[in-house]
Amino acid sequence: MSHILMINTGGTISMVHSDRGYVPDGKRFRKMLEGTDLLKAYPMPDWDLIETEPLLDSSNVTVAEWNRVGALIAENHDAYDGFVILHGTDTMAYTASALSFMLEGLDKPVILTGSQIPLGEIRSDGRDNLINALLIAADRRVNEVCIFFGGKLLRGNRSTKYSADELIAFASPNYPALAEAGISIFYNESAFLKRDPVPFRLQQLEEIPIGVIKVFPGIQFSLFDQILTEKLKGIVIETFGTGNIPNGGNALLPIVNKAVKNGTVITVCSQCLQGTVSLGAYETSSALADAGAVSGKDLTTEAAVAKLYYLFSKGYTPDKIKSLMETSICGEEK
Ligand code: ASP
Repeated sequence: MSHILMINTGGTISMVHSDRGYVPDGKRFRKMLEGTDLLKAYPMPDWDLIETEPLLDSSNVTVAEWNRVGALIAENHDAYDGFVILHGTDTMAYTASALSFMLEGLDKPVILTGSQIPLGEIRSDGRDNLINALLIAADRRVNEVCIFFGGKLLRGNRSTKYSADELIAFASPNYPALAEAGISIFYNESAFLKRDPVPFRLQQLEEIPIGVIKVFPGIQFSLFDQILTEKLKGIVIETFGTGNIPNGGNALLPIVNKAVKNGTVITVCSQCLQGTVSLGAYETSSALADAGAVSGKDLTTEAAVAKLYYLFSKGYTPDKIKSLMETSICGEEK
């Protein structure tokens, strides 16, 4: 029988009502899980539950929490067959992306899940999400960091939260689902991550100064001159369509150029959920490439941010980071 470690970090799944809105309640959550006979019956795996302290709304999750969860997985790597991380939905795609890079050579399932309605409420989606995440982790076919939510298993670094209130809250617009839970769980094995085996190792992340800029019609780039300095190591620009920015008579390109010369890595992502950046397809994107920005291709913004944290934490030079931003490391981009 598989042995799974559940790590509860907080989020709606373990929350209760308070007079200031939902807050995590770890004790009640543990009691609920331990008191549910179904979670201990065949075909459920053996599981243990640990909590990070304090349990958080995932809006409060930082690099420190990514490191803590990564360390818990690394410490328990040999003792368990797989891991289920309970996490708030708001930043789940960021955490999943970060862990996908940090857990180098991962050879076991790490499945993040949570819910839109607390487990203690009658219409909770948490029960289904949790049971399927445990079964998929116990199955041991998937050896990567994933999100299970709303009936689908998605690659973590391809996922994005796209609905604030639907029970199917996550999408993976540029990569197929790895599994779907219908009457039985159907695995899409051809989509699983294939990579050369390397020994498992945890790369801790540092709190690298990173920025995200979303372009909009009428944006006054000159206002960003103070921000786009060498103090920022990495910037993700969310552009229109295939990587386009307004380039008529504005000041972005000299600012980008100066930042690139100072060693800042500027990655171009798209505001479109689906498709890929293609620098040079239009005049409005050629200039970004000329100024030294790199293409984030079909990376989600979440994965681009996590990848910048990871590559800078590895201590690579800006040139190496620029080249790796355009190269898939663990299935995050084309
Ligand atoms: N604010 C909550 C969180 O991210 C939302 C959720 O879990 O659904 O922790």
